[in-house]
Amino acid sequence: AGERLYLGMDFGTSGARYALIDKQGIIHSEGKREYPVFVSEEKMDWVRSWRAALFSLLEDVPVHLRPLVASISIDGTSATTLIVDSNTGEPLWRPFLYNESCPDALPTVKSVAPANHTVCSGSSTLCKLVSWWNKEESNKKSALLLHQADWLLWLLHGKLGVSDYNNALKVGYDPASDSYPPWLHSQPYSQLLPSVIAPGTSIGNLKEDIRTQFGFQEDCIVCAGTTDSIAAFLAARATQPGKAVTSLGSTLAIKLLSTTRIDDARFGVYSHRLDDKWLVGGASNTGGAVLKQFFTDEQLQKLSEQINPMEASPLDYYPLKAVGERFPVADPNLVPRYSILVAFVFGTQKCLALVNFFQSKAIFPCCAFGEYLSILLIKALNIVLLPFPSKNQPKFPKNKVLIDEFHDCLEAGDCGMNCDSVYSESVTVRKLHPRPESDVEYLHGILESIAHIEAKAYNLLKDLGATQVEEVLTAGGGAKNEKWTKIRERVLGLPVSRAKQTEAAYGAALLALKGAQHDSC
Ligand code: ADP
Repeated sequence: AGERLYLGMDFGTSGARYALIDKQGIIHSEGKREYPVFVSEEKMDWVRSWRAALFSLLEDVPVHLRPLVASISIDGTSATTLIVDSNTGEPLWRPFLYNESCPDALPTVKSVAPANHTVCSGSSTLCKLVSWWNKEESNKKSALLLHQADWLLWLLHGKLGVSDYNNALKVGYDPASDSYPPWLHSQPYSQLLPSVIAPGTSIGNLKEDIRTQFGFQEDCIVCAGTTDSIAAFLAARATQPGKAVTSLGSTLAIKLLSTTRIDDARFGVYSHRLDDKWLVGGASNTGGAVLKQFFTDEQLQKLSEQINPMEASPLDYYPLKAVGERFPVADPNLVPRYSILVAFVFGTQKCLALVNFFQSKAIFPCCAFGEYLSILLIKALNIVLLPFPSKNQPKFPKNKVLIDEFHDCLEAGDCGMNCDSVYSESVTVRKLHPRPESDVEYLHGILESIAHIEAKAYNLLKDLGATQVEEVLTAGGGAKNEKWTKIRERVLGLPVSRAKQTEAAYGAALLALKGAQHDSC
């Protein structure tokens, strides 16, 4: 027999891709399709679009390779939900997209689910199901819930009502006991829930009409899929506990393979099952989107070349695009800290003047003073209070330019206040201005600060009980930055490298390979 190939398809947020690999993981063909735009009743018809993209991808697989395909698997966006007719498989309702929220269902869901369960979020699959259930009058008896990947796979194998335990996590499936928990099972809408198997399990043969239409072989099987972010993790082939993948895209996400399961809603940390292990993950709001605010991709590349990654940057930032962070610090009010300005002022008048000064510089002071009005101002301006530094405490790194500017301003009498009553010895910069004169230093400081957040993230997972991280692979736009990789190695104290494969479609192809191997033994 000739060599067999394994087909993975990814239905991500921005389009659909396929990857065709062999047993060694070598790619024989790959491609991408945008989601075609079909509009019905002034709304995007996603169901039609996904179906069209699926068959376009099958057509894109080179004709001479199709007979070699032994198995197929698909990943889809997590929590993208379809309610279909359990007899025909046709959608009864427009699909609920991954990022759609159904807050109307939250009270009901919270009243039945354990506190802080993954389903207790407006965008969970269960909230989508309950929202539909509460709205819909008819069709309830013959309805079935499927995730995007389940439904697309169904188009290929034809057996209705099958899902995988990764996709089913957000509807409430418990992957540890391998069942729907009793609190969910006892609900009337639980009759809609699909049966659940392990990702990569063979579901059945490719439907005959599709086989003959496209020229696939009779023994080609279709295997259970997973979510897009898990497929991207699988692509990196981090298969041992302690191996992790940091994704440096618009945001920073980490995923660690662990022997223990961790769930902590405070930090948005939860675990997906992967066979006998757990994939523990969390996502920070810092990341490439902040870099993008200041630098183009070309600038990032050029400036990075001049960074000495062996040297620690003295700048300490918390780069965020907006207020609020969940992981590794759970604080919805966390203000982007590009550095900290500490000024200690005594007296209401002075405080007001100081606030004006800093505001004009787009800087917020962190003040430690007791007056009522000051506190109101601090609250109104969302200022972070820092403890008053004692003599023995290490000093914050100073920003000479700012201190000088500040004193100039005071001396010129702009603020109408008296220098003597301002304690501005420990001053560092806060927010983006003023930034160091050198862009290289500035970028160095931001990259280093993100590395510290990454280190904190891995430490938090360890503190919560996950397997200790041993090696970090990197995916996303930041992975190609070698200087950043070196900085992260120094800060994390771990080997860091770029993942060879990061496409979710490649991860889905690995699931297809797994299914075919299992099927043949
Ligand atoms: P997304 O999460 O949006 O898919 P990508 O994985 O495509 O993001 O990564 C895009 C991000 O990578 C951008 O925010 C950009 O700032 C960042 N980026 C691009 N080039 C570099 C580089 N050389 N060094 C660091 N970051 C970079």
